[in-house]
Amino acid sequence: MQSNSSRKVVVVGAGIGGLTAAALLAHRGYEVLALDQALVPGGCASTFKRQGFTFDVGATQVAGLEPGGIHHRIFTELAIELPVATDCDPACAVFLPGETEPIRVWRDPEQWKTERNRQFPGSEPFWQLLKDLFRYSWAFQSRDPVLPPRNIWDLWQLTKAVRPDTLLTLPHAFSTVGDALRTFGLTHDRRLHTFLDLQLKLYSQVDADETALLYAATALSVSQAPQGLFHLQGSMQVLSDRLVEALNRDCGRLLMRHTVEQIHTEAGRTTGVTIRNQKTGETWIEPADHVVANVTVQNLVELLGEAAPEGYRRRVDKLPPASGAFVIYLGVDRAAIPTDCPPHLQFLYDYDGAIGENNSLFVSVSHEGDGRAPSGKATIVASSFTDTGAWKNSGDYEGMKQRYAAEAIGKLGRYFTLTPETIVYQEAATPQTFERFTARSEGMVGGIGQRIPTFGPFGFANRTPVQNLWLVGDSTHPGEGTAGVSYSALTVVRQIEALTS
Ligand SMILES: Cc1cc2nc3c(=O)[nH]c(=O)nc-3n(C[C@H](O)[C@H](O)[C@H](O)COP(=O)(O)OP(=O)(O)OC[C@H]3O[C@@H](n4cnc5c(N)ncnc54)[C@H](O)[C@@H]3O)c2cc1C
Repeated sequence: MQSNSSRKVVVVGAGIGGLTAAALLAHRGYEVLALDQALVPGGCASTFKRQGFTFDVGATQVAGLEPGGIHHRIFTELAIELPVATDCDPACAVFLPGETEPIRVWRDPEQWKTERNRQFPGSEPFWQLLKDLFRYSWAFQSRDPVLPPRNIWDLWQLTKAVRPDTLLTLPHAFSTVGDALRTFGLTHDRRLHTFLDLQLKLYSQVDADETALLYAATALSVSQAPQGLFHLQGSMQVLSDRLVEALNRDCGRLLMRHTVEQIHTEAGRTTGVTIRNQKTGETWIEPADHVVANVTVQNLVELLGEAAPEGYRRRVDKLPPASGAFVIYLGVDRAAIPTDCPPHLQFLYDYDGAIGENNSLFVSVSHEGDGRAPSGKATIVASSFTDTGAWKNSGDYEGMKQRYAAEAIGKLGRYFTLTPETIVYQEAATPQTFERFTARSEGMVGGIGQRIPTFGPFGFANRTPVQNLWLVGDSTHPGEGTAGVSYSALTVVRQIEALTS
C-alpha cells in the first residue's frame, strides 16, 4: 500500500459506487471517511429482511463478476473474496402481450442466436451490427477510457484506450437503436421493437427509439458468455458487505445514519462537507482534500447550493424527468411458483399501454437455497417504472399505493399462483420510499437515461466543474447497474491518484 495519508477524501454515500471508491482509495493509502444517511449500506443494491425473507431492494442481477469483469477486477485488487453466484440463464424470459411462451435471452451466444432468429425472423443483420459494436466497445471500455474527458489527463486516458477498431464505432455515435432498426427495414416488426423497448428501458431508462445505439450494443450483449449476468448467493447485500470489509481493513471509516447536508467550496475548489449525525442531531464541518459524491447529479447540485456553477445547474435543470420505480415485494409459499420458472422474467400486458405503470413488470424470483427465503418459500420482487411526479402530487398517496399493489399482484397472478394462502408477506415501495431510503432526488432511479445527448462522451463527467469534487454513480458513464457505477468509481480513484501522486 502506498502512503497518501495526508490526502483526505470524504465520500458522500455508500451505494456500490461510493463504497467501491472508498474501498479502493483506502487500499491505495488515502485517509477515507464515507458517510451514508441510511441504516444499511448499498443504496439501490441493498436489502431488507421481513419475517424470515430477505428482499433485494432494487438491483437483483449483477454483471461484471466474470474474470476481467469490473467487480472481479476490483475485488481482486482489494484482495477480498468474490461473492458466490450462479449464472442467470436465461438472463431474462420476456413475455409479450397475449403470448404464453417467452423470448428467452440465453447465456450461450449460439443458443441466443437460434432463439432470436426463431423469434424475430430476418433480424440477424441488426444483431450482427450490435455484436460487432459490442466487441469494439467492450475492448475499448476494458482499457479504462475516461468519458467524457475534462482535462489533458482525461484526454490522454481516452486516447490511450482507442484502437483502430474503436474508430469503427464512430459512425454510429449519433445513432439510436430506432435508427438502426430503420436501416435494416425492421421498424415495423412490432414484436422485435417491443422486445427491445422492454429490455432497453431496464438498462437505459429509455426506449429503443431514444437509446444510443453504442450503449444498447453493450446493454443487449452483456448477458451472453463470456460476460453474463449473475444471481448472488445470500442476497445483493453481500457486494456492499465485502466492500465495507475491505474499507475497514484498510483503515477507512464508514458512518451510517450520517447525512451530508452541504458540500463547501472556496475559490472553485471543494473544501469539505457539513455532516449531520441523525441520532444525536450534532452537525459539523468535515474538511477534505477531495469529496467524492455518490449521489444523483440532481442531488449534487442541491448539495452545492449557491456554489453550483451556473452552467452545470442549467444543464441539470434541462434534463428530461427521470423515472421512479414501483416495487412489490412478496414472500410466498413455493407452491405459488410454476415449475421451471426462470429467475428473471419481464411481462408486457398491453401493446398500447406505456412501458411502466404496471403495464410492464420486471420480476425476480428466488430459488431454493439461495438465502432469500426459508425452505419451501420464495421471494418475488416485481418492479415497474413510474412517474415520480404522479406520486408526489397525489392527494391520496396511500390509496394510490394500495391500488398499484393490488393491480401488480393481479397481473402477477396470471403467471404465479397468488392467493391469500400462498402470499405470506407483502410490502411495496414507491418513489417516495426510494427517496426516503436512498435520498435520491424525487425517488428517481437508474440514472439520467442513455439518450444521445447524455450517454458516454456526451454525459456528465466524473470530474465536476468544482475542483477536487468528483461524481460517481449512475448519473455518469457508463451508466446504471452495480457494474456501471463501479467503473465510475474506478475512474475517479485513478483521477484522484493522478493528481496526488
Ligand atoms: C428497482 C430497481 C431494479 C434494479 N435492478 C438492477 C439490476 O438487476 N442490476 C443492476 O446492476 N442494477 C439494477 N438497478 C440499478 C442499480 O441498483 C443502481 O444503478 C446502482 O445500485 C446505483 O448505485 P449508486 O452507487 O450510483 O447509488 P445508490 O445506490 O443510489 O447509493 C447512493 C447512496 O448514497 C446515500 N446518500 C445519498 N445522499 C446522501 C447524503 N446527502 N448524505 C449521506 N448519504 C447519502 C444513499 O443513502 C445511498 O446509500 C436497479 C435499480 C432499481 C431501483
